[in-house]
Amino acid sequence: MANPSMLSLIKTKRDGGEHSREELAWLVSNVKEIPDYQLSAWLMAVVLRGMTITETTHLTDLMAHSGQVMDLSDVPGLCADKHSTGGVGDKVTLVLAPLVASAGVTVAKLSGRGLGHTGGTVDKVEAIPGFTPEIPIEQFKQQLREIQIALASQTGELAPADGVLYAMRDVTATVESIPLIAASVLSKKIASGADVILLDVKTGSGAFMKDDASAKALADTMMEVGRRLSKQVVCVVSEMGQPLGQAVGHSNEVAEAILTLQGKGPADLTELCVKLGGLILLGAGATSTAEAGEAKLREAIASGAAIEKFREFVKAQGGDPRVIESPEIMPQPRLRVPVEATQEGIVQQLDALPIGIACKELGGGRLFKGAPLDLAVGVELMKKVGDRVEKGETLAYLLVNDEAKLAAATESVQSAYHLGPTPASAPDLIRAVYAAEPVSGRS
Ligand code: URA
Repeated sequence: MANPSMLSLIKTKRDGGEHSREELAWLVSNVKEIPDYQLSAWLMAVVLRGMTITETTHLTDLMAHSGQVMDLSDVPGLCADKHSTGGVGDKVTLVLAPLVASAGVTVAKLSGRGLGHTGGTVDKVEAIPGFTPEIPIEQFKQQLREIQIALASQTGELAPADGVLYAMRDVTATVESIPLIAASVLSKKIASGADVILLDVKTGSGAFMKDDASAKALADTMMEVGRRLSKQVVCVVSEMGQPLGQAVGHSNEVAEAILTLQGKGPADLTELCVKLGGLILLGAGATSTAEAGEAKLREAIASGAAIEKFREFVKAQGGDPRVIESPEIMPQPRLRVPVEATQEGIVQQLDALPIGIACKELGGGRLFKGAPLDLAVGVELMKKVGDRVEKGETLAYLLVNDEAKLAAATESVQSAYHLGPTPASAPDLIRAVYAAEPVSGRS
């Protein structure tokens, strides 16, 4: 087939057509040279017109192979990788990866940067002085062999096509698309070479999938693409109606993750990490039930093994381990400004989306490609669903460096809180667990 032009690909998708594998292969292999305006037009056409499961599978496979696919056969045991489809205050990876590694299962984690109103692990770990997520493949594998944990961002070597598309989607309102999310997430999981893949599919206001039905549709797509590409994928649909934990930002999320690894973290974050970890331990054959895995992980927190694994991990990636005892060595804001309740009541709902937007407005998210982030800013939630609030009481603190951004962020946070007279409780953290049929793989 002659090389298609980008113009013809845009027209095909705009008109609801289906791309051939050859067309997608051309796009993926030329993705760095395609002008931004054509790539963003094509992405928007995909958001509006969708992709068939066959197109999504081809795109995932081609993106995974746009760089190297790691061969972890010289790493003993099964390797696990986990990925979230994006949330607000979602620092699960920072807790879960060292926690699972401390219980003896190797974690080969490939992470992303912030996307839309959601934060990204790669940006968060950069708040730790010296920490680098951009490590060569050899170092990644050596860390897996020596300390059972490594975290890398997609680079020129790993899923580079996702790097280009991801950065473009972040700033062109083209994130919310099941095929694009599925291909982005799974291409990284395939490139990481992991045997056990656990996907945390977020649902609710702070997620890209706003309700359980669309979260299930995303989970179904990822499991089917995984099945077609011979990867077993477990999907957990979890709550993202309100942010996870209290901290939303970068430095403050790392600090909260450290507290959680020490057994002093918020209940919702701890619970979710332990539940997801139990499923990983089960999938890796380290325990015979998920519940036994959960017990092992709670023990790793209580014994100090989890935080010691975090220390080893930070050191191995060039970070300053003093961050554990002194989180204030991470970037700190100039101001901590309270947002006060304008009425009394019980928090009925705390919308994660405006909280994520407030963090972005304060400088914690990108408005254009490659924009630098302010890792010190964010939001600290003092009240969550079910809490009683008096008029004038502090709902949240804004962590601020630029006062010009304060008014819009305050308004966003105010709009996130819905107070009422009746008792309320947070919805279940885990909505559903889906596992695809087993496929052949390492044992
Ligand atoms: N995480 C990713 O890596 N990609 C997406 O598209 C969404 C969440």
